[in-house]
Amino acid sequence: MKNLFLSFIFLGVAVFALLFFTFQNLNQFVTTQVASIIGIDINQVLDWSSQRGLNKNLTIGNSGRDVRLLQYAMNKVSPNFGSKNITGSFDAKTAKAVSDFQKSNNLNVNGTLDSNTRTLLNDLYFKELCPDGRGNIFPDEMTIHLNKSKSLPEDYIPSDLIDISDSVKTFKIICLKQDVAPFLKKMFDDAEDEGINFAVTSGFRRPEVQSLLYKALLFLKGEKAKYRVAEPLHSEHQLGTTIDLTEKSINYLGADSKFDGTVGDLWLKQNAYKYGFVLSYPRDKMFITGYDYEPWHYRFLGLEITKEIFDRDISVEEYFGSSEN
Ligand SMILES: [Zn+2]
Repeated sequence: MKNLFLSFIFLGVAVFALLFFTFQNLNQFVTTQVASIIGIDINQVLDWSSQRGLNKNLTIGNSGRDVRLLQYAMNKVSPNFGSKNITGSFDAKTAKAVSDFQKSNNLNVNGTLDSNTRTLLNDLYFKELCPDGRGNIFPDEMTIHLNKSKSLPEDYIPSDLIDISDSVKTFKIICLKQDVAPFLKKMFDDAEDEGINFAVTSGFRRPEVQSLLYKALLFLKGEKAKYRVAEPLHSEHQLGTTIDLTEKSINYLGADSKFDGTVGDLWLKQNAYKYGFVLSYPRDKMFITGYDYEPWHYRFLGLEITKEIFDRDISVEEYFGSSEN
């Protein structure tokens, strides 16, 4: 009964917060709060991403977000360490779980999070963010036609995803296909030479995360959500070639309509194609793409295709439509 009561309180607070927050904050908000309601164990993965893994050594008596992340990891690796032990306090049970993990991985057994144990856990959990792909399902996935009716296979994960947070500005671990990353880096560097500072707010997105976003927005906006966010398996973010961009002049707000008309936005519209990127959902193509205008959302298609799209002043959807006829 008490649990039921607490659930109602939690749901009430969450619904209130949902209505209170605007769409501008949805990305950040959804990933931290709504995940719990929908019951997908993905918010810890995203915490891992924003904190860039376990950063400091921990021992009995420590508490806080790092300890919680460690306990989340223990819960994943040890069936005996239940989720009720994810308390944020490094206690004897946590130490025992760490010792067991160290023993089974031939590490020095001391029950504390030392640097070797951290490295191994970070490597293990990094794979949740940048999973190993099975790219052979789609040998040519970079240029696949994806829209509201054309989808990717269930659980499709691209091959060769890498973390780009060391090479371009991001606020968390963001993964992209290895082939695409150098083009993005060059684009950011050239823009910076002209005084424009971009950041990436979203890259590869697991279908589970896309599902969260979709359900949350459907709850918040009703049918209109369908013009704002792709259904799972229909999102270009799942390709590992697509990014959401922001810039310094709007304080790096993510997926925000304020990006429209900024110097960065105008620069991208003239230059992104030179780096193989294209705006997927332009303002004047909403009836063709089926999505609202998203000035921040760019897909990589390679220099040849993006030049053709730019020269013909068409959308990605029109490009694929005409090449298939
Ligand atoms: Zn996007």
